[in-house]
Amino acid sequence: MTSRSLLRLALAGAVAVGGFALATTPADAGKAAARQVPIRLLSLNDFHGHLEPPTGSSGRMVDENGQTVEAGGAAYVAAHMKRLADDNTIGVAQGDLIGATPLISAAYHDEPSVEFLGKIGVKVSAVGNHEFDEGYAELRRIMYGGCHPVDGCSPAGRWKGAQFDYVGANVLFKNRNERSTALDGLTSTPEARKLLSGWGVPALPPISIKWKNAVPIGFIGLVTQTTPGIVTAEGIKDLKFEDEVKAANLASRLLTILGVKAQVVLVHEGDQVNTGQSPDACSAIPGAGNRIATQVDPAVDMILSGHSHQAYKCVVKDPAGRDRLYTQGGSFGRVITQVDFQVDRASRDIVRSSVQADNHVVTRTIAADPEISQFVQTWKDRVAPVANKPIGRITADISNASTPTGETPLGNLIADGQLAATKTGGNAQIALMNPGGIRAPLTFAGSPAGEGDGVVTYGEAFTVQPFNNLMQVVTLTGAQLKTVLEQQFVGGPNGQPFQKILQPSANFTYTYSRGAAWGSKVSDMKIDGVAVSDTQQIRVAANNFLVGGGDAFAAFKDGTDVWSGPLDIDAFVAYLTANQPTTPPALGRITAVN
Ligand SMILES: [Zn+2]
Repeated sequence: MTSRSLLRLALAGAVAVGGFALATTPADAGKAAARQVPIRLLSLNDFHGHLEPPTGSSGRMVDENGQTVEAGGAAYVAAHMKRLADDNTIGVAQGDLIGATPLISAAYHDEPSVEFLGKIGVKVSAVGNHEFDEGYAELRRIMYGGCHPVDGCSPAGRWKGAQFDYVGANVLFKNRNERSTALDGLTSTPEARKLLSGWGVPALPPISIKWKNAVPIGFIGLVTQTTPGIVTAEGIKDLKFEDEVKAANLASRLLTILGVKAQVVLVHEGDQVNTGQSPDACSAIPGAGNRIATQVDPAVDMILSGHSHQAYKCVVKDPAGRDRLYTQGGSFGRVITQVDFQVDRASRDIVRSSVQADNHVVTRTIAADPEISQFVQTWKDRVAPVANKPIGRITADISNASTPTGETPLGNLIADGQLAATKTGGNAQIALMNPGGIRAPLTFAGSPAGEGDGVVTYGEAFTVQPFNNLMQVVTLTGAQLKTVLEQQFVGGPNGQPFQKILQPSANFTYTYSRGAAWGSKVSDMKIDGVAVSDTQQIRVAANNFLVGGGDAFAAFKDGTDVWSGPLDIDAFVAYLTANQPTTPPALGRITAVN
């Protein structure tokens, strides 16, 4: 639905509800119960296209009893949504629904996942950083429909667009002269025009208003302001991402001007937790999510969050000192957050004391939804010829779990494959892979089919490397390469938020000191056993995300003579195919001292 039609609904409703308010007299005060209507929100975040039940640790969750149980899978999400939904329910989401997805979704630019989410009743979602993985233009296609400009229509035909509104109040165009349709219909009053004149040019609708039980509920979408540092620069080059609190407060005032008092923030930013806790515990460690939850305007009644893939249910104080709900529901469709509250029909505001929440684990012990099972099977059949193709063989599990130096066997394997794929065309001498781009382990048992013979299928390889990044090679001096490695560690002028150890190819070794100050941690860099000098020119292979300065590796942008090669997934597949059977690479490329 467009912003314009939303506004028309909002205004139509304002008249209707105003009528109720006029009819209410003090004599009716005793009928307080009848003057409140119940609303239920069912919320998901960070689904990441997991139509099939996720495997390994990605498919397990600690439940309310402290037991670790199998969780997730679209057909189970659908079954639990049906179980939990009533006539008062609005489905919502907090972003990263798409992007970094398994092949069943990614092969069709995530159209199957967005269609699924519409089918289960999601009506409005914040955008996440991963919604921008294929760029702003592709996000608009997902929102509004059309066939992919390169790959054409999917086997399901012309894409009709999302059946829910994507909102992002803090996503603006850099160019103030950019034409935007995001606010169409919202600037009809002088008050709104005045408010919005200072805002900049929104690239997405900032709010969505949904009516239920004759009351309007206003949803404000927000995405982490760190998005430019964690998605590929090219796709968002025209956009800027503003402070979440500032944008939320403007959007909240806009809702108030439109007469919408029941206000919910859907934010793709969140906090970490102490592990092993019940999803209903408030075990969140206050961070970027908590800042938003405590600082946005008191007119906002609750904060549903995402991004950190954790489950928590907290009550924080808003700036007016009132209790305010702050939740998150894990990731990969393993948790549904249920929020119940009453809305006063006269004031149209949420009765804050009535707000209750419950995180439900999406268990697989109830019957799967038959319609969604069939839907997933249809896409599974479509992608099967590609997904099930054996492309290699491994002798044992190859883990992506970090070791004390930050190296991982799978990261080392990927880096070796990247070097092999870029040596000839790009004259690469070493390769470096960002750890966040490795999304799953390679297991000997294999995919859910569990063939157990060490065969690696294309689908399994894709689950490890799902970004479709391009391999590139740049020239860095020895000094610049050292700066890149320093930027792995927390702090520094570019502000690395947490340690990210790049996975090196086998011929590159170095030492870092945990105790040394930022900027002098890295020493003893060697290529093929030969010491690297500051002025030496080195051809370094990495994906285009890193070369563009992603993950706060700003020094990569100093690279010169950029060469672009194959997709990272193609490099990985080619290496697995050429080296059968593949054994887990040894560690020891990085030495860490205290
Ligand atoms: Zn995210």
